[in-house]
Amino acid sequence: MNFSQIPGQKETIDRLIRSVKEQRVSHAQLLSGPEGCGSLALALAYARYVSCENRSETDSCGICKSCVKYEKMIHPDLHFVFPVIKNKKETEPVSDSYIEEWREFVKRSPYFTLNSWLDSIEVGNAQGLIFASEAGEIIKKLNLKSFESDFKIMIIWLPEKMHLSTANKLLKLIEEPPEKTLFLLVSEEPDKVIPTIISRCQLIKIPGFSIRDIRDYLIRKYNCSDEKAQEIARVANGSIIRAAELFENEDSSLQNLEKFKKLMRFAWKRDIISVISWSEEIAGTGREAQKNFISYTLRILRENLMLSLGQLKNDLVFLAGEEAAFSKNFHPFINQENIYQLADEFNIAYSHVEANGNAKIIFLDLALKVTKLIR
Ligand SMILES: [Zn+2]
Repeated sequence: MNFSQIPGQKETIDRLIRSVKEQRVSHAQLLSGPEGCGSLALALAYARYVSCENRSETDSCGICKSCVKYEKMIHPDLHFVFPVIKNKKETEPVSDSYIEEWREFVKRSPYFTLNSWLDSIEVGNAQGLIFASEAGEIIKKLNLKSFESDFKIMIIWLPEKMHLSTANKLLKLIEEPPEKTLFLLVSEEPDKVIPTIISRCQLIKIPGFSIRDIRDYLIRKYNCSDEKAQEIARVANGSIIRAAELFENEDSSLQNLEKFKKLMRFAWKRDIISVISWSEEIAGTGREAQKNFISYTLRILRENLMLSLGQLKNDLVFLAGEEAAFSKNFHPFINQENIYQLADEFNIAYSHVEANGNAKIIFLDLALKVTKLIR
């Protein structure tokens, strides 16, 4: 990952490059910004730039020994710390237990959520943490002399997931760093990092990507029309991850919208026969599809409430294309009178589906309650 591969964030990139040119690379920096703002990609590109043997004014060279190792993420002076999960062998695994998986995952794309990383190493609801055992590893690695570069660089992804005792030991290292060490902390929730660490880091706040940057990225990546890219970019609200999800899941979104429209139409007409066959149809799909539909519905309900509350001109509404067209006429049916109960009913259905309840009963019950609430 070098700077030119990042589709935007020019201001931050300029600032990072300037710090190297002016030889005032602070030894501990905290890059913070919302999910999908590209903060990990920026940290990777920055680390590579710092280590490059032949960097230009604007980027690392891409061909020197250091860059080649960075590309494979195997440079001996580049270290990673990131949340991991317990496994059968270790109750307190460290990042290096998953380093191979991590390299492969990040090489595929540096834009991902914590959940998607955890899903890639295990399916389930395991909590991702940086365990207390990691502290020893960090100290060990940073006390090594650097092998090939001037700097030893440690990228800590999501320090907010760090065990308190690890954070305290890290704090000591940041206060009295081993020679030629660069810490790059990449955080999505800096308010959950202990304040004594924050106060010792140079803060680099990263905004979401601009609509224009996301639009151009979508056009390049998916070769889609200007208009469509623009619409998705607006809805993505600065997140490059959300933009890609919206684009790639468009089919399932459209299917969910169709199911939602049908339910609302039957409910409004009090057409009980159709309501029953609707619930049977949904019950016939898989559990993931059912959960996906419910999550989708909750989002559409929320957006329609925003429209009803007159937020149309506001940036609080994130609807595009077919959804926007449908919601234009539908939104008056969602208001402060029924939204709480509607949301409750869908949330209850969600937890029943998760608990493996009888789908026919869950969705018939849900559809009948909706029939009462939509008028
Ligand atoms: Zn280079």
